[in-house]
Amino acid sequence: MEETQVIIVGGGVSGLAAAKVLSNKINFVLIEAQNYLGGRISTIDAGSNLFLDMGAQYVVGNKSKLYKICKDLHMLLNDKGINDETMVITTDGRTFDSEWNDKAEDFWERSIDDVDEKFRGGKVKHPVSFADFVPQQFRQRLLSSSRFPRDLIEPIVHCFINSEMIDSACSLSNLNLLEYNGYGDPPGEYENELKNGGYRPFINYLRSFIPDEKQIRLNCEVQRVKYMERERKLLVEMVDLRTEEKKFMLCDQIIWTTSLGFLKENFQRIFASERLLIEQKQNAIDQIGFGILNKVVIIYKERFWPNNINYMKLLHTQPYRLDDLSPQLRAELHSQQVGQHLIEEIANSLHFYGGLSSTHIPILTCWFADSLAIKIENLNEQTLGQICHEVLCRYLRLDQNQYKPIKVFRSQWFNNKYIRGSYSYQALNSTKQHRRELKTPYAPDGVPRIFFAGEATHEDSYGIVNAAYETGVEVAKKLL
Ligand SMILES: Cc1cc2nc3c(=O)[nH]c(=O)nc-3n(C[C@H](O)[C@H](O)[C@H](O)COP(=O)(O)OP(=O)(O)OC[C@H]3O[C@@H](n4cnc5c(N)ncnc54)[C@H](O)[C@@H]3O)c2cc1C
Repeated sequence: MEETQVIIVGGGVSGLAAAKVLSNKINFVLIEAQNYLGGRISTIDAGSNLFLDMGAQYVVGNKSKLYKICKDLHMLLNDKGINDETMVITTDGRTFDSEWNDKAEDFWERSIDDVDEKFRGGKVKHPVSFADFVPQQFRQRLLSSSRFPRDLIEPIVHCFINSEMIDSACSLSNLNLLEYNGYGDPPGEYENELKNGGYRPFINYLRSFIPDEKQIRLNCEVQRVKYMERERKLLVEMVDLRTEEKKFMLCDQIIWTTSLGFLKENFQRIFASERLLIEQKQNAIDQIGFGILNKVVIIYKERFWPNNINYMKLLHTQPYRLDDLSPQLRAELHSQQVGQHLIEEIANSLHFYGGLSSTHIPILTCWFADSLAIKIENLNEQTLGQICHEVLCRYLRLDQNQYKPIKVFRSQWFNNKYIRGSYSYQALNSTKQHRRELKTPYAPDGVPRIFFAGEATHEDSYGIVNAAYETGVEVAKKLL
């Protein structure tokens, strides 16, 4: 039977970061169930010299370690060239500029702070949900200003609720407000854009620290782990997904980096023999939330939105109806048996279209969160892109046939059984302590044998690539 010192489970950022630290110091094998490295970083070839990130896309914090690496790899887009103007458009054709939008954003931020202040310090016995207080406070703030027309207050509130759902990848009624406000942003400017090429050079950089091909096993799924008391070794059972052949490997230690979504579904099965481990972590795995976010990326031949605008926000002053779509699209949706309710739900959830500054090719991205993100995974990509396109054209008062999408890409992070969502969030009943429990190593004989890393194990700034990288580095250092 094959034997090694350390097995790293998962070839996402966290597993690769751990491999980088162990490289040339400790014998290890990295096992990855999918046919690529990167996990929730998935940079696809979308055309000739066009790369799209279907998972992580921005680098968070321009003073973070991750930013420094990306900068050294010349991956970052120069801020000066980036146009980040926003245009807000209402159903009845009114438009508002970035400054107006900034004011509303400021009100949203301040509403979160108001509510936080109200509850923090006071002895609240029950968790405070984001949805129960923030939208209401925001509404009050909007009403107190003469800047926002009264008939736009509700559409603005809905638009901001939708944006927050996209950022947190969950329903706001399950988002824990006090924990949300305790989030530790990585230092520096929040979102930084990457050049065409996206995150791929970063994954290649991490991969370059594993010189021996044999140390990486792609298409190989770990199915069971058992601690062998007599041998004082871990027995890892895996299956080669191409040949369906079962394999066993022995090791001293494991670095486990799979997503929380994967753990929610498989933890009990994989560690069935390790009762103490299950006792140690099951509650944390249940309580911490794992959200869902999907993207629809639409590629055009010609740009039809104003040159200085990179973001478009829609305020639905009237609900979008099935009849507002073109007869061709309605016929298409009918033939695909997509129900009216779902179509209208999609159209009315479309509040935000983002341009891509890294290429001259005109591209727009729409995001879907929570239960709707799951529903759109099973729709035809092209048809879904066409819905997004037609809704926008209606707002811009343009003929939808004049500028048709030439290609559409849609992510399917929930259908992916090795990921099962997008990233973790602080659910109503979860606290920092749960993340501590999730990352605590398992030491069946007093020696830490299974280490847990990955974005969800970061106590302060979970959910992002930085967290995956830092937790991977941190646990691997403990093994040196
Ligand atoms: C749509 C979307 C947008 C995002 N946007 C951003 C962003 O702009 N900026 C940002 O910083 N972050 C963003 N994120 C979050 C970021 O992508 C993740 O936090 C980070 O990539 C997680 O890395 P990880 O190594 O912890 O986990 P993963 O990338 O999930 O790696 C775990 C790996 O384990 C593998 N695996 C699972 N089960 C097994 C098994 N049984 N055996 C072997 N291997 C297994 C999986 O295939 C996977 O490759 C986004 C995520 C999504 C989905």
